[in-house]
Amino acid sequence: MIFFFGTRPGKTETKQLEGVLCPFCEQPNTLAAIKTSNWFHFFWIKVFRISSNTIAECSHCKRGFYEEEFSTDKIVSEP
Ligand SMILES: [Zn+2]
Repeated sequence: MIFFFGTRPGKTETKQLEGVLCPFCEQPNTLAAIKTSNWFHFFWIKVFRISSNTIAECSHCKRGFYEEEFSTDKIVSEP
């Protein structure tokens, strides 16, 4: 009997960040937060989530920022 198991990517959620300047090119409203996750699967049935990651990507300079580099706390404190 052959067992199929391993990891699969979960669905990706994208959220446009408004009123935020890109830390690199300083263009406003170009950043989108992209949330990705990885799941452990057994016969392609997702059993549990292994990890999730949030990155921010700029549509102007195409630069990606990791959560450590880019904190969403800054968005809240902006007027
Ligand atoms: Zn940018």
